[in-house]
Amino acid sequence: MSIEVHHIQKRFGSFTALNDVSLNFPAGELTALLGPSGCGKTTLLRIIAGLESPDSGQVLLDGEDASARHVRERQVGFVFQHYALFKHMTVFENIAFGLRVKPRSQRPSEAVIREKVKRLLELVQLDWLADRYPPQLSGGQRQRIALARALAVEPRVLLLDEPFGALDAKVRKELRRWLRRLHDELHVTSIFVTHDQEEALEVADQVVLMNKGQVEQIGTPEAVYNHPASPFVYGFLGNVNLFHGRLHEGVLDAGGARFEAPGHDNIRDAAGVGFVRPHDLDVERYSPGAEGIVVQLRRAHAIGPLAQLELERDDNAELIEAVIPNERFAQLGLKNGETLVVRPRRLQVFAQQEGGPAR
Ligand code: ATP
Repeated sequence: MSIEVHHIQKRFGSFTALNDVSLNFPAGELTALLGPSGCGKTTLLRIIAGLESPDSGQVLLDGEDASARHVRERQVGFVFQHYALFKHMTVFENIAFGLRVKPRSQRPSEAVIREKVKRLLELVQLDWLADRYPPQLSGGQRQRIALARALAVEPRVLLLDEPFGALDAKVRKELRRWLRRLHDELHVTSIFVTHDQEEALEVADQVVLMNKGQVEQIGTPEAVYNHPASPFVYGFLGNVNLFHGRLHEGVLDAGGARFEAPGHDNIRDAAGVGFVRPHDLDVERYSPGAEGIVVQLRRAHAIGPLAQLELERDDNAELIEAVIPNERFAQLGLKNGETLVVRPRRLQVFAQQEGGPAR
């Protein structure tokens, strides 16, 4: 089932939680709603589910206005961060619950329920836990059971609100890969709320970046990571170095280094900021006349395949982070305090309004 939201507005008292949000969630895709705490992700999810009504705007399910459809008729499955499985029921009974409470005319027979729960337990790879009670499960197992329970009623949409948020980092990582595989098998249109950019980029078909109740960008993980539409997206999706300078007819002059700034050809003179990811910096030993920004090596962490370098600019003491292959680091034979030159292989320039944010 495809989901569209058109011009959704939602206020709580005088606070605007969602401000003119319009989005498409294509059928069968897994979308991550990503953004900082309080940006409106959960509110949007609740509006799609029918748990909350927008002040204005529309939700379309398969092209049809959903406002008249009650939560139950929307055929959504939910999984929340702290999903309350029934403690006094076995895993099996928890999964069967949604089927057992269906109106008599739609309720499957006991044999069908048994078969279905068995299949779901296999799907989430926990069939050996059928007779356990929730307190006897690990956090990760509980969330997989919660997912099986949401899937039991064959939802046409699956809404997941920080489903792995309460788990430790290693289990989270395992579960998100597992969720991706599960989605590839089932193709249920799914929306996944997270504030963890790595999780969103790894799991989703499309990522929606939200900030202060508005959509900043929507695109594939590759598109939002490599072509951020705004400084906010740049900063939110990973570490970034900022080179402040002046923009002049398509060139950013940033303290001794000049960078091409395509798209800013018409600017005569304005403040500008170059955004560079740490792994998009080339690092070399300093030699007189070398092109680039002169820095000193403060510290290096060279563990695993990558070396992370903490560099300090010679001209303004700003810190720069560079990530280079460890092999290259070893080859350079660098020591703390050494003078180096860095050159961005790729940078994106945003013009900055005086006193305001870069755009
Ligand atoms: P988090 O990642 O912290 O869960 P979120 O992006 O999901 O954040 P929402 O839960 O959608 O954010 O909340 C958006 C804003 O609306 C927040 O500032 C929140 O305090 C406010 N808000 C949400 N629900 C209500 C409510 N029922 N009454 C008043 N304010 C609310």
